[in-house]
Amino acid sequence: MAAKKKIIIVGAGLCGSLLALRMAQRGFEVVLYEKRDDLRKGIEGAGRSINLALSARGLMALDRVGLRKTIDQICIPMKGRMIHPLGAEPFYSSYSGRESDYINSVSRTELNILLLKEADFHDHVTLKFDTRVTEVNLETATIKVQDKVTGENYEDSAAVVIGTDGAGSIVRKTMMSQTTKLLFNYSQNFLRHGYKELSILPEPEGGWKIEKHALHIWPRGHFMIIALPNLDGSFTLTMFHPYGSDIGFDALDTKAKVQSFFEEYFPTLLPHVPHYLEEYFENPVGTLGTIKCYPWQAYGKALVMGDASHAIVPFYGQGMNAAFEDVRVFDDLIEQYGADWKKVFENFQDSRAENAEAIADLAIDNFYEMRDKVDDEAFKRKRKLEMQLEQEYPDYYSKYSLVTFRPELPYAEAKKKGRQQDALLLDICNKEDYMDVPLSVIYAKLKSL
Ligand SMILES: Cc1cc2nc3c(=O)[nH]c(=O)nc-3n(C[C@H](O)[C@H](O)[C@H](O)COP(=O)(O)OP(=O)(O)OC[C@H]3O[C@@H](n4cnc5c(N)ncnc54)[C@H](O)[C@@H]3O)c2cc1C
Repeated sequence: MAAKKKIIIVGAGLCGSLLALRMAQRGFEVVLYEKRDDLRKGIEGAGRSINLALSARGLMALDRVGLRKTIDQICIPMKGRMIHPLGAEPFYSSYSGRESDYINSVSRTELNILLLKEADFHDHVTLKFDTRVTEVNLETATIKVQDKVTGENYEDSAAVVIGTDGAGSIVRKTMMSQTTKLLFNYSQNFLRHGYKELSILPEPEGGWKIEKHALHIWPRGHFMIIALPNLDGSFTLTMFHPYGSDIGFDALDTKAKVQSFFEEYFPTLLPHVPHYLEEYFENPVGTLGTIKCYPWQAYGKALVMGDASHAIVPFYGQGMNAAFEDVRVFDDLIEQYGADWKKVFENFQDSRAENAEAIADLAIDNFYEMRDKVDDEAFKRKRKLEMQLEQEYPDYYSKYSLVTFRPELPYAEAKKKGRQQDALLLDICNKEDYMDVPLSVIYAKLKSL
């Protein structure tokens, strides 16, 4: 095979595994390097979060590799949010007024394993686990690696190197080290919140302790807990919580303090999490941040995609979906330009950077929405109105639906249109006489935006 056809991919996470599979399907020779052990050996907790929300953009990319139906077997559809306010009954809020719109809870590990297995099925894919990429030469597409098992160090080179090596990407860091040569822009913004995972165990006789087909939220102003269902009947809870306040992660440092905090703020959750104190002290606190950078490519030889080029906070459930969309768009460009890598890379970064920035901003918006607004009266009125509009007018999509259920619409357009719609609807819902405004009038106003 001509050298032009060899691709090195750094990082066999979700993005790298899907990319390897698609490139193999296209006949490229792929060598995929992963610093961790092979997930297929059954390692627990190798990913950063146990389950993820997979939605239309991710599914569209999985369809491209022929896995759409297989994926359904490992997904739990979630049709809406179940909100658990403090001191009031839980209530349900659909994601969309259309029955056909839902998101899916999927195990990160199972999804990653499925992609690795499919990629490995191709003769011209080589998977190298326990092998860390330690250096990258961007101009020659050469890498240095270290085999963790044998201790051996060696070099490899290809037509191109693609970094799908996550938020701490060595490929991106190498681009940064040539800031002036590449005119490399970079920003990293941490939230003053971290996250910690807890769990609800399955019912002893099997089944789910709380509603299975919903993403659960316990919003508490400056903090919240969410829960996504797993196939085995358990739920993964994620506690999004600040540092620095008198009830922040750093202040909750004894069992007594954590217990009194949960009793005060999450009393209805407590019966479902008898082991929460052990989990709280065993499980680490993860950081949450946004990384933006540009350019994403160097010399037509190296490229970053997925979290390596655009890590975002998880509040729209779009990080993996955006990474999968990267692979689909990249694949479209290969269809168009073949292995003219410079053209493919330049077009890729130009079409994706603006959209990655848009979903990064929307994800921050949603952090505040999920945390502070889901049980706010004007917000609840707006959601109700959005549902009515979606039921009555099939061509109307709320901001959430534009992002989540319209995979053909670029994120940047979803952001622009969604924010305009939100402003108009909130304006109506904040007025006393909002009930008197006919739906057809609101729809007409939305259409004129
Ligand atoms: C709490 C939380 C919840 C989330 N929930 C969702 C959700 O519901 N929906 C959603 O769409 N997204 C979600 N995300 C985002 C999602 O996890 C990421 O966007 C996604 O994992 C990005 O995939 P990736 O392959 O680009 O990077 P990663 O998953 O980070 O994979 C990078 C891989 O590269 C490997 N690697 C790194 N450096 C090297 C090296 N030097 N050599 C070799 N290998 C290397 C790593 O070991 C890893 O396997 C969530 C994120 C968090 C933190």
